[in-house]
Amino acid sequence: MSLDSHIERVLWTPDQIATRVFDLAAQISADLSPFSEPPAPALVGVATGAFLFLADLARQIPLPVTVDFIRAESYGSGTQSNGFPTISFDLKLDVTGRHVVLVEDIVDTGTTIAHLIAHMESKGASSVSVCTFLDKPSRRKVDFQLLSKGKFYRGFECPDYFVVGYGMDFAERYRNLPYIGVLKPELYKTLLTFSFSSNLFALSRL
Ligand code: 5GP
Ligand code: MG
Ligand code: MG
Repeated sequence: MSLDSHIERVLWTPDQIATRVFDLAAQISADLSPFSEPPAPALVGVATGAFLFLADLARQIPLPVTVDFIRAESYGSGTQSNGFPTISFDLKLDVTGRHVVLVEDIVDTGTTIAHLIAHMESKGASSVSVCTFLDKPSRRKVDFQLLSKGKFYRGFECPDYFVVGYGMDFAERYRNLPYIGVLKPELYKTLLTFSFSSNLFALSRL
């Protein structure tokens, strides 16, 4: 069965995504261009959700930058985080003295990004900006502060739906959709009523 049939509606098409990424890259390039002396600014993608966004963004920033990934997990299941993120895979890059742009798929409660900003600060980044493709301000619980003269860039404000695609998953699926869509609620509601093991069984049949 096609993945498209699991989607209730499309919020942003590939063309709309491309146009917005182009504009964000132009803004970030303008803001980073004064920092041409080494060490180069770092684009830090938050794995796995930011992988497509980071790839699209980085290709349109014509400046010397470094690229790395970090992984933060909050061991919640389904569509909610449990509010306690941990860094399960850290940077390879030394960010001491670098301007860091954290590249995220979506900022929801703000818990994960607040934790990552603090982590970059503890590693000696000279500023920390955030570039998130989607932002759900209506669900914010943590009022995070950017470091130094860091900026907040966002692609689109997202209504309070659980969205998938363009890197974002439900149970590790749908990341490869080239658009952002709303998953049919019956798909995750049904699945979440099962226990963990039968949940996996149900997913394997999708
Ligand atoms: P926060 O810590 O801000 O509550 O959540 C951040 C993470 O939760 C995001 O990076 C993303 O992985 C996940 N998340 C939040 N909202 C959504 C959503 O609507 N769809 C998907 N697929 N993931 C989400
Ligand atoms: Mg994320
Ligand atoms: Mg996820």
